[in-house]
Amino acid sequence: KMNTDLGQHILKNPGVASAIVQKANLKQSDHVLEVGPGTGNLTVLILKAAKSVTAVEMDPRMAAELTKRVQGTPEGQRLKVLLGDVIKTELPYFDVCISNTPYQISSPLVFKLLSLPRPPRCCVLMFQREFAMRLFAKPGEKLYSRLSVNAQMWAKISHVMKVGRNNFNPPPQVESNVVRIEPKNPRPQISYEEWDGLLRVCFVRKNRTLRAAFLGTSAVIDMLVRNYRLWCAQNDIPLHDGPAAGEGEIENMDTDTASAEEEEEWNGIMDVDEDGDEVPNFFAEEKKKGTLGKKSRGKVTDLVKEKIRKVLEDETKLAEKRARMCDEGDFLKLLYAFNQEGIHFS
Ligand code: SAM
Repeated sequence: KMNTDLGQHILKNPGVASAIVQKANLKQSDHVLEVGPGTGNLTVLILKAAKSVTAVEMDPRMAAELTKRVQGTPEGQRLKVLLGDVIKTELPYFDVCISNTPYQISSPLVFKLLSLPRPPRCCVLMFQREFAMRLFAKPGEKLYSRLSVNAQMWAKISHVMKVGRNNFNPPPQVESNVVRIEPKNPRPQISYEEWDGLLRVCFVRKNRTLRAAFLGTSAVIDMLVRNYRLWCAQNDIPLHDGPAAGEGEIENMDTDTASAEEEEEWNGIMDVDEDGDEVPNFFAEEKKKGTLGKKSRGKVTDLVKEKIRKVLEDETKLAEKRARMCDEGDFLKLLYAFNQEGIHFS
């Protein structure tokens, strides 16, 4: 009996299984990671073409079935089954990742694979169709999102094939696609956290101008002010705190409350179109830190706002552009200009 909460849809078409393994261009010397081996239909094919397989499986019954399937065979010696959630598991080095992915972990899995200190040469992964299309969407296209920019920053993404739902048992609700993700080598020399932090701000509402994304919300400004203070402290840069020009002491006490519009934004769940599944909303995360609902004022806030204005209007001239139209080059320009001003996202 399959557990569909765990995304258990077994690939029943051997042609599709062997096509997936073929598309990974395995070498006999390769160490392979397989995510969610299930009963092992892909695993046995991978074992024939590679040196070793580490398979991470969450369901103990599946892990036991797979172990039994290869027991006593020479291949069995080259398989290691790790029981657990792949997202929480510390992964050994591997050259290639192959997976008929449990769809509920698509987004965290891609982010995990792309942020590994030694990323694999190539990943061949099955996803549900819309998620796959987000991975390779281009600026201006409907499915263009933070996931698209992130994935394409760190990897070359290519479409491998469509797989109809009837190739699975039980058939899932939606159609699937196989994609190949080849992490760029060498890896771009920018901080993953900074890059993703910038994108989170830009893509809270991808249809908004960057000016509105950065200057229209006190949550974003507060976060950037906090990071700026930290950065100044770490770099021995003195900060001249105090009330902003023309403001009285009392008004200055962080007592302003949020506007109705802001309240609404903070309470919303993430734009679901953002990257397909429930990733915590930027505002939800700020709310957890207890920083929402207060507008900080003062000289440092004014300084940071002026820096943001300068970056958007003077240095990058991107103030009026919307995230959905920005390409990788635009985001890189933004990140560089912000960092030059001491503005950080992580
Ligand atoms: N590889 C098999 C195949 O192609 O026939 C099964 C694929 S099935 C779509 C996904 C598998 O991932 C299931 O066996 C499920 O138990 C497992 N799984 C679900 N969530 C997981 C997680 N977080 N970490 C590791 N495995 C997981």
